[in-house]
Amino acid sequence: MRNVIERAREVLGEVTPLATDCGQVCGGRCCHATADSIGMLLFPGEEALAQRDGFRTHSAQGGCLMTCDGVCDRDTRPLACRMFPLFPLVTEGGRIRAVYDPRGWRLCPLVSQCAHVPLRRDFVRAVRRAGRILMEDPACAAFLRLQSEEICELNRLVGLEAERPPIARRKP
Ligand code: SF4
Ligand code: SF4
Repeated sequence: MRNVIERAREVLGEVTPLATDCGQVCGGRCCHATADSIGMLLFPGEEALAQRDGFRTHSAQGGCLMTCDGVCDRDTRPLACRMFPLFPLVTEGGRIRAVYDPRGWRLCPLVSQCAHVPLRRDFVRAVRRAGRILMEDPACAAFLRLQSEEICELNRLVGLEAERPPIARRKP
């Protein structure tokens, strides 16, 4: 049986935040190391996959960070790359909500301009669905809960929750 990482990756395989390539506008900032981007945090179970696929990994607070050379085979990119700039937040009641990741505020224009740029519905739904799949695995569920706490804490600081939720008003 395929594990939750494979299933979640598949759900997020083809969907993108916008109908067009958002990297064309910002120069693909989330794929290049900058002061605001130090790598992508891997989910439990992804570290071995990342090493196999030629990415670099190193320990960091909260887990394992992956860095790359700014290009990849899309089929091998980790979950964080597929979900960004959203994250499947676990609510206190245990439900999954797709929310903007406040850690992308300085890096990603889709986060800082979220009040003006709606995301594709299918992308938002895929992030939510991937979160539900990941919650089936105890290690991934614990990771999601920990990340969710950090996101809620940051949201209290930047007030991102007061902005529009990441769903398009109409189908793009
Ligand atoms: S930084 Fe944001 S807008 Fe730019 S490529 Fe990444 S997700 Fe798209
Ligand atoms: S793995 Fe691919 S999608 Fe992820 S940061 Fe690197 S180039 Fe970008």
